[in-house]
Amino acid sequence: MRPAPMTAYHGEWRGIRVMAKLRSLSLGPLLPGLVIPVLLVIACFALPGAAQAADTIVAINVGVEHDERETRLVFTLNGPVTGQALHTGAPARVIIDLPEVNFQLPADQVQASGLISHLRYGLFAQDRSRVVIDLAEPALVASLSSREREADGAHFFTIALEPVEETRFADAVARDSRALAEASMRDDALAAQISELDERPVIVVDPGHGGVDPGAVAAGGVLEKDIVLAFSLRLSERLRESGRYQVVMTRDEDVFVTLGDRVRIAREAQADLFISIHADSISSAPQVRGLTVYTGSEQASDAESARLAERENRADAAAGVMQERLDTGVGDILMDLTRRETRGFSHGFARYLVDEMESVARLNRNPVRQAAFRVLRAPDVPSVLVELGYLSSRRDIALLRSEEWRGKTTRAMAEAIGTYFTVRFANRGLAPVSP
Ligand SMILES: [Zn+2]
Repeated sequence: MRPAPMTAYHGEWRGIRVMAKLRSLSLGPLLPGLVIPVLLVIACFALPGAAQAADTIVAINVGVEHDERETRLVFTLNGPVTGQALHTGAPARVIIDLPEVNFQLPADQVQASGLISHLRYGLFAQDRSRVVIDLAEPALVASLSSREREADGAHFFTIALEPVEETRFADAVARDSRALAEASMRDDALAAQISELDERPVIVVDPGHGGVDPGAVAAGGVLEKDIVLAFSLRLSERLRESGRYQVVMTRDEDVFVTLGDRVRIAREAQADLFISIHADSISSAPQVRGLTVYTGSEQASDAESARLAERENRADAAAGVMQERLDTGVGDILMDLTRRETRGFSHGFARYLVDEMESVARLNRNPVRQAAFRVLRAPDVPSVLVELGYLSSRRDIALLRSEEWRGKTTRAMAEAIGTYFTVRFANRGLAPVSP
């Protein structure tokens, strides 16, 4: 048996980004013990050669049964799972969120059948997997159930679908979307900041650190988190005032935000540009000063940048948050193409930024650098991290705290952003990487 790829969302990335906005919600209590005669043949449970974490649930088979009333999708797993169902419209879909499942299934195992027109499954987010069912006609999840076969410990997870009137399906979609809107405060704030109907580019401004994580601390008690928040607020205000963009801030107050959440906010907003603002300190090299723009890369451009990224990446741990494993889609060929294209855009923007900043700010002697910053990992959002200056440099501190400096640097940054989008949209449809 040839294992199927872990991520099964081939060719659907843009669609999935939209769906990533939908938080999982419960359909109500799961109906236990719906006993269904399962006619699946279990190939093997030993899974020879299949690498897997000891505690990850593995799906080894999937099949569809249907009669006039119901269509049942049955996954065969090596352990029990519970799922949460959600309905979305246009196109009509059923989404089942599961804990992490390793889908060791042959590709295209399920053909269109009954109420199912298309099926995808795969890792969706950190520790979460998702089954996406495109519906042939309006249908609701009648039940989710899990049953164990005692003889060999196989578990059968069954998603039962029943056809419904268009209006009942629309009600379910509306109900699920309402529940979604109430899902979390952060999402509320985000939703308030951007609109699906608004076609202006979305820019995410990310002031580094915050709350329990002060970032760099300079002599005299100047904190990086305060410097970068003041700058980011000024920049966001300027961008909003231009009327050209929708602007989202990952934080607009002194609050801690995990690195994973920063990336998630950018992806959920389907951002066109992500700008992380920092003002770190490099105590080993107090001579290092001046504005520097970093783009993400596994390979750091120099040792200093590598050390800086390493320290930045510890921000979550410093605040007592478990390091998240980001789902970066490594190994997915479409994702690799997307990432390559995105990095091209990130580099392009970094160049515009440096060109524009040259006249107003003191630049580092190597102003464009690369390192593996976790916050720059969104594979589909052009992202840069700007070190405004270094709190290890006395002269930089003086500038960073000056209102006048803030005024002219935010103006220059807004100019660079304007140039970037003008060029980018002029070239729309001429992607550097053709699919
Ligand atoms: Zn920082």
